[in-house]
Amino acid sequence: MKKQHLPTKTCLVCGRPFTWRKKWEKVWEEVKYCSDRCRSQRNKKAIENP
Ligand SMILES: [Zn+2]
Repeated sequence: MKKQHLPTKTCLVCGRPFTWRKKWEKVWEEVKYCSDRCRSQRNKKAIENP
């Protein structure tokens, strides 16, 4: 397999970078969270910044 440079984004909830996934190929522009868990946490409450 060739090395591929996949796009990455930073999750707005946990702040960790995540890499493009096949399941996001059609919605990558709209993806803001690394996982469903983070997405649901986003809806719960805003991040508490000290
Ligand atoms: Zn996350």
